[in-house]
Order: sequence, then structure tokens, then C-alpha cells
Amino acid sequence: MIPLIGSLAKLFREPLAPASVTVADEAFRSLAEYSSDVICRIGHDGVFRYVSPSASVLFGVEPEQMVGTSAMLYILPDDHPAVAAAMARIGSGQFDEVRTEARTVRPDGREVWVEASAKLMPGSDPAVSEAVLVLRDITERKRAETRWASQALEDSLTGLANRRALDEALDHEWRRTVRTGSQMALILLDIDHFKKFNDHYGHQAGDGCLHAVATVVKAAARGPTDVAARYGGEEFALLLGDPMGDAVKIAEDIRTAVVALGVHHAGVGPGAVVTVSIGVANVFARPGSTITMPDMLVQAADSALYRAKDHGRNRVEAAIVFAPAKAI
Ligand code: GH3
Ligand code: MG
Ligand code: MG
Repeated sequence: MIPLIGSLAKLFREPLAPASVTVADEAFRSLAEYSSDVICRIGHDGVFRYVSPSASVLFGVEPEQMVGTSAMLYILPDDHPAVAAAMARIGSGQFDEVRTEARTVRPDGREVWVEASAKLMPGSDPAVSEAVLVLRDITERKRAETRWASQALEDSLTGLANRRALDEALDHEWRRTVRTGSQMALILLDIDHFKKFNDHYGHQAGDGCLHAVATVVKAAARGPTDVAARYGGEEFALLLGDPMGDAVKIAEDIRTAVVALGVHHAGVGPGAVVTVSIGVANVFARPGSTITMPDMLVQAADSALYRAKDHGRNRVEAAIVFAPAKAI
């Protein structure tokens, strides 16, 4: 796009005799007519002076209808500040070229992401001159970016939050608990004898089992700040933010719901079903406590989980952690 903008702007670079203005204008138009990008001339007032034919594809509006109207008319209100800032930058004359991204909504209701590159037409006062504007549909790229961003925080097998997302949420909730002198809880669960499950039924069936347990954990996340996550291979976590119910009761409900799935686990013995062991760490903010990191909370839940394993699996064990209370 940049070379194109450069060559368009070059058409106006020479001090032009009146006759050659027409030549440049013609050259501009013929370039613009053949481009799949939308090429426009826009005044310092943000009003379109010229709009190339491909606008009908990008905006779903005929170019002649756009000429004489403000560019802001086509931009979602949420994106007005970004576009206004870009226009101010180019109007200042300090920038040769300005780029921004904004959304437009077509008459058929479809939202389209547009990348706009503007270059000031040379040789005139920046405060009153026109700019060459090249617009390109970047909706697909934006979708892909959103997908990558969510994938970076999501476990691909189960669709739950991944370890990184959980760590961020833990940090956030921990700070809130300390700041507001309130409470939170972390539930960690681990599938019992999962290696034997894989050995008996195969890895693919193992993945199916992980998926089934994940749906139970996900269903237990009810509050607005609750986060259900895949913590590791066959370990899951549920972070309960404030306000929260009784964490031990929620853990017990998860345990019985996994049993109720009735996923056979002949690797353990005839008639056996898949079970989970669960560790719960309840956190209360209390004056005088000095624990400063959520790591202690994970350790407490982890120790409770291993107690549940030691005491025979398919059970819930709990621990209490006192976070520092900032109020005192
Ligand atoms: P315990 O009751 O003590 O937890 O025993 P366990 O067999 O569940 O624990 P162990 O840590 O020995 O084995 C965990 C198994 O989980 C081993 C590993 O192959 C399996 N696993 C980890 N991630 C995945 C996965 O993404 N898919 C499948 N199918 N298996 C996985
Ligand atoms: Mg494990
Ligand atoms: Mg296990």
C-alpha cells in the first residue's frame, strides 16, 4: 500500500501548471479505477472529494454517494477517537504519512475492519490541503489476530483457560482479595489413575475423557470472576472469586458429577469409573498475615490434593490460607 500511496502522491509533487493538473488528475483517476483498494481524496475537514469505484465493494455504498460526505459517517462511534487522532496527526504537517485501523458497518449490517493510510498532498498548507487516502479491507487479518489472542489464553483440547490465563487471573484475584479484605478459593483436581486409562483405552480415548471432565469443571464456574482452567496434563483448576459459594461443597459437587459421568475405567478394575481427587485452598484476608504471592495458594491447594490422593483418591481435602489484609 505504501508504494501505491507514494506514487499517487508523487503525481502532485511537482509544482504543476494549470494544464498539467488535469493530466495528474486523470492519471490519479485511472490508477484509482483499477485498484481493488479504495482510493480517495479527502479534505482537511474530513470530507471525501473523490472516492474510487471499489468503495461499493468495501462499504456497500456507491462512491458518488460518499463524495461530499464526512468520512466519520462511515466509522463506528467507538473508533472515532482513533480516526480523529490520525486526522489531527496528518493535519499537523509533522507526519508524512499516517496509518490507522477502524471499523465500518455496511448497510447489510456486516462489520468490516478497514486499514487507512493517508498521505498529505504536497506543496500546500497542511491545515487546508487534501490527503490521498488508501483504504483496505483487513477483516480477515483482524479475525485471525483475535483467534491467535484467544488461543494464547485457551487450552486447545478442552476450550478451558490455559495455565497462563489462570496465572493471570490468580494474580488479579489475589490482589483484589488483599485490597478489599475479602476471600477467594482455588480448587485443583487431578484425574485418578489416568495413566492406566490411557494404557487401557488409548491416548485418543484419554483425550475424550479429559474433555468430559473439563465440561464438569466448566459447569461449576458460575460467578463472574470464576475461571475454569486446564492446569496441566490431567489436572484442572477452578478459581472462585468473590462472591463465592462454599468452595468445599462446590468441589464435592464436581467430584460426584465426575463419578456420575460414568466413564468406564476397566484399567482400575471391573465396573470402575473415572474419578478425580480434589484439593481446595480457601483464602481469607486477615490482618497480620504476610503471605504476598499467590504461589502459596497454589501450593496449599496442591498439598491438599496430594492428601486426597494419599487418603485413597476420589475425595476432597481442604486447606485454609490467610492473605494479608490491607485494611490494617
Ligand atoms: P494419579 O491417580 O496418582 O494421579 O495417577 P495418574 O496415572 O493419573 O498420574 P500420572 O501422573 O502417573 O499420569 C498422568 C498421565 O496423564 C500420564 C500422561 O500420559 C497423561 N496425559 C497427560 N496429558 C495428556 C493428554 O493431553 N492426553 C492424554 N490422553 N493423556 C495425557
Ligand atoms: Mg497429575
Ligand atoms: Mg492423575
